[in-house]
Amino acid sequence: MPVNALPHGICRDCLTPANTASRRCRSCGSPRMLAHAELDRLSLAHVDCDAFYASVEKRDNPALRDRPVIIGGGKRGVVSTACYIARIHGVRSAMPMFKALEACPEAVVVKPDMEKYSRVGRQVRSMMEALTPMVEPLSIDEAFLDLAGTEKLHAARAALVLARFARQVEEEVGITVSVGLSYCKFLAKVASDLDKPRGFSVIGQEEAISFLQKQPVTLIWGVGKAFAATLGKDGIRTIGQLQTMERNELMRRYGTMGDRLYHLSRGMDERGVKPRSEAKSVSSETTFNTDLSRMEDLVPVLRALSERVSARLKEADIAGRTVVLKLKTADFRLRTRNRQLGDPTRLADRIFHTGLELLKREVDGTRFRLLGIGVSDLTDAGRADPQDLVDGLSHKRALAEGAIDSLREKFGKQAVETGYTFGRSKVARPQRDGED
Ligand SMILES: [Mg+2]
Repeated sequence: MPVNALPHGICRDCLTPANTASRRCRSCGSPRMLAHAELDRLSLAHVDCDAFYASVEKRDNPALRDRPVIIGGGKRGVVSTACYIARIHGVRSAMPMFKALEACPEAVVVKPDMEKYSRVGRQVRSMMEALTPMVEPLSIDEAFLDLAGTEKLHAARAALVLARFARQVEEEVGITVSVGLSYCKFLAKVASDLDKPRGFSVIGQEEAISFLQKQPVTLIWGVGKAFAATLGKDGIRTIGQLQTMERNELMRRYGTMGDRLYHLSRGMDERGVKPRSEAKSVSSETTFNTDLSRMEDLVPVLRALSERVSARLKEADIAGRTVVLKLKTADFRLRTRNRQLGDPTRLADRIFHTGLELLKREVDGTRFRLLGIGVSDLTDAGRADPQDLVDGLSHKRALAEGAIDSLREKFGKQAVETGYTFGRSKVARPQRDGED
């Protein structure tokens, strides 16, 4: 934890204020002290559950507690989550299961129970929402919280509220979280990762530039493996190097991404915390460069758009019951077709196949200038895609989809392409996403 002078502190175990640089709490003796010069001023937090799926399984089966645990889809699958003991042996998320078991043969492999994780995730989220309405979920187990203006409500500053929250999650839910506290989203997210598990890290305004200086460019939101390689070719490896470059130069070289590099490298991030919008539908559409009429041209686009919709549903932890297909003909006539599913979905595969059924009926030689796919009747993801209602084949596809998602999370969106979209990404213009 970056620490300057230490006038403002809290014991994270007994929550007693501490005003000195003492290593242990004078009240309870705990070494888990939180102290930072800007502690009173910071209110933007990122909260992330530690090895979430694995922690839930350990909670529910104490025999697993001291054993390396891997959550994943069988021997042929990939690692979805590894507990911290398994991580010591070198097991990582998105690692092929056979490699993980080579690294840690004694690991216990547990099949993911998404319904359960979703339930626990919602429990943690509702505890967050009791602290502030400004909660922006990033996934099932992490969210940004803006606690500005809640000091009166809680009769406590943000840091204390968050330390109390972390303790409450341990006591009431039985899993642990890590907290990052800062003045902006970028550094709050970075901070929550610094001291995992059971971490609480603070990055203040004062130290932001010097902290970032030593960090690799990959720390910057949006800089994946591929873009880091591009930067590497230009000799740029650290954020410190970006700090010495002019904005114009960065934008000339890297376009809008250059603008982001300029600002984030200097710890400048104006993005606010946006609570989950009460969206009625989530959709994605694209206008073609040239009108398309053939199934074989439309299908890869539908696939790519379905994956986009699915990714956004998963990100927001919601699902939709009605799949909506939208087409615009070359003469600007709009066609929308929809189909209601038995239960809500957030899987790209189900959205795609439902959309495909609808699309088949419309493809009759008509030339289309636009294709869109989306879902409406949005609900919480908890009731989505129940395993017992999904047939064996699509269940396997759902598991495969989970594996693809974690690979993408790790290596970036372009890392994994399915057969339908492979090599077709140039067919359409940039896509437009919608939330209504
Ligand atoms: Mg997590």
